[in-house]
Amino acid sequence: MGADLIDFSHSVKLDILDPIDALLGEGFEVNFKDIEFETGLASYQGRQVLLYIKDHSYNEKIYAVIEDGTKGNRFHIADCEMLERMRQKGRFDRYVVTNKLDGIFAVSGTNNSNELIEGDTNLNVCQYCLDALNYKKFSSMPRGAIRKKFVSTFELAEFFDTYSSFFKYMPTGVANNASAGYTDDWDDISRKIRAQFNYKCQQCGLDLSSHKGLLHVHHINGVKSDNSSRNLTPLCADCHRKQPDHQHMFIKHEETKTINHLRQEQKLNKKENWKDIYALADPAMNGVIDLLEKHQVSLPEVGEEIQNDKQEVVTELELSWPLKKVGVAVDKTSALAASKQGWKVYSMRHALSQMDDLAQSLR
Ligand SMILES: [Zn+2]
Ligand SMILES: [Zn+2]
Ligand SMILES: [Zn+2]
Repeated sequence: MGADLIDFSHSVKLDILDPIDALLGEGFEVNFKDIEFETGLASYQGRQVLLYIKDHSYNEKIYAVIEDGTKGNRFHIADCEMLERMRQKGRFDRYVVTNKLDGIFAVSGTNNSNELIEGDTNLNVCQYCLDALNYKKFSSMPRGAIRKKFVSTFELAEFFDTYSSFFKYMPTGVANNASAGYTDDWDDISRKIRAQFNYKCQQCGLDLSSHKGLLHVHHINGVKSDNSSRNLTPLCADCHRKQPDHQHMFIKHEETKTINHLRQEQKLNKKENWKDIYALADPAMNGVIDLLEKHQVSLPEVGEEIQNDKQEVVTELELSWPLKKVGVAVDKTSALAASKQGWKVYSMRHALSQMDDLAQSLR
């Protein structure tokens, strides 16, 4: 199929399932030290994962946990205070890592007669992790009922989608599900609609006639089988992923970068307030942007190119303040390239944990 012609083209690149992806789809136990947290998010061999302790042996707890997952161990998604405490105590339990996104977890434990009991349950996400990432402004939510409600409605697919830029590989199973719900004639319909609107995103106005694959066709009412013309509108991949209930999009950072680049060329990247910054930036930066806004720093540039002294473009930064030569990068390569040019560059993780310092350097 023509990869640039379909709405879900960005998510059909996984041809052969790597053994590691097959394993992660099921979940398996690893040593804690083999889980990486470089960006702040948990990852295993380049894949975003969540981790949890499967064993619930203590005091026959396993029975209660199978009944009600909220009584079980929390699952972690980031390098949080809790994991740091374990590290400091020298406790390195074995964790299950997985990228299964349905929220059902295999748990086990022994009862008082030393029999192994196994079952599935719906564990809760760790609140320290949500706080560390400031996921959906979690850090400013009051403790108690509001946070609890947030946890009970937390969606893994949406969470993984938010940070898809950081990872080369999509969660297992997502690629196979990408075409679910579309009608067979979707490729044709999508092609027609995009041509009819001259390959323009109907939200940000971006002309994508040079990059048609980055223009999607969105079902306004959310029903993918309703292809009536008033229900269809072309949106660029970036505006599309920011629509409500649009998890499972998994837009790559390269694609976001291209869109940002074209918006700059077409002078569509207007930045008058923080709302504009959210609209332009990669959603992975939302937690950082929220803190920047609260610290009342000046509006950053989004996706700005960084040049060397010969005026050659060496890289670009997701968020940047060119006058101060300060920025926030999604990937390590661009962070290194920019720091070589005398920039002070924060990773997402450091921007979140050292926000006072970052805000100070922008005064
Ligand atoms: Zn945690
Ligand atoms: Zn757009
Ligand atoms: Zn859509």
